[in-house]
Amino acid sequence: MTQPILEVNDLKTHFPIRQGLFRRQTGTVLAVDGVTLYVDPHETLGVVGESGCGKTTLGRSILRLIEPTAGTVTYRGESVTGADKDRMRQLRKEMQIVFQDPYASLNPRMPVRDIIAEPLRIHGMDRKEANDRVGALLGKVGMMADHGNRYPHEFSGGQRQRIGIARALVLDPSLIILDEPVSALDVSIQAQVINLLEEIQDEFGLSFVFIAHDLSVVRHISDRVAVMYLGQVVELADRNQLYETPAHPYTSSLLSAVPVADPNAERERKRILLEGDLPSPANPPSGCRFHTRCPIAQDVCRVDPPELREVSAGHWAACHFPTGPGDSLINQVQRLGRDLRLVEAREH
Ligand code: SF4
Repeated sequence: MTQPILEVNDLKTHFPIRQGLFRRQTGTVLAVDGVTLYVDPHETLGVVGESGCGKTTLGRSILRLIEPTAGTVTYRGESVTGADKDRMRQLRKEMQIVFQDPYASLNPRMPVRDIIAEPLRIHGMDRKEANDRVGALLGKVGMMADHGNRYPHEFSGGQRQRIGIARALVLDPSLIILDEPVSALDVSIQAQVINLLEEIQDEFGLSFVFIAHDLSVVRHISDRVAVMYLGQVVELADRNQLYETPAHPYTSSLLSAVPVADPNAERERKRILLEGDLPSPANPPSGCRFHTRCPIAQDVCRVDPPELREVSAGHWAACHFPTGPGDSLINQVQRLGRDLRLVEAREH
């Protein structure tokens, strides 16, 4: 059995809410609340969910860019959460991040060469060697060596994301957290950046945590996918298992919004509309956090939080009434004699 490159165990990141003149704590946002997962070497784990579900906080907590409140993160068997400052600096060479908005994350006053070379210089590499490495990396991400002399504002969004990827690669990491890396890009550019990510993953033997809200993109690039709702993982499976036989009602509703390739099926496709808004992570519902919006919720769901358990080999779901193969959320709703808001997918 291979050792995972990354293991996250019961990770929690809570933020105090402070109000008033004396900044008294009036509540706590449970942004990440008990996440357990792993990533194997050379694997891509997709993490999906609505905005506000905690996926970005999870990515940053893994790298301790935000300090977790509890739980552990382990990289190649070594504790990240227990590492001191010096060791953490070393570990950050191995674990990098690419942000959604490359413009905001690139210093506008520095030429691209210096932006990419900065981590090398911090780690003591001389200028000539650093410049050579940056020139080679720019080539790897589909840019020209002389682009290094220009400033971030001189590039398109897609090019800036390539620069962000080059910067993430410069210290030769093994794991990269990609936080919505293509969400801000046009669809045609998204495909180019995804192809680039797949190429560099093969060439450098990288592992990815790919955080996104676009389920089509996640299916394309991921080996396994974790679905998050209100700070928790509610389903985790191999991508084909998850997309073809979702077990959790929340996953089913998310997937109903994804276009399918078969034109006949696409014409028939109905989108499941959930009732209500995403509850506040400062005041999550009791029992199953999804019960206020779940079309098949029952009494037990309001009081008893479901554990993430294996519903079939390698397929985990946190639901008291998971859907099995050959069944669907719509069938379950009909059996219960409930209503479900279905709309023509093309209207949305
Ligand atoms: Fe719905 Fe109950 Fe499953 Fe939660 S546990 S997703 S409320 S059926």
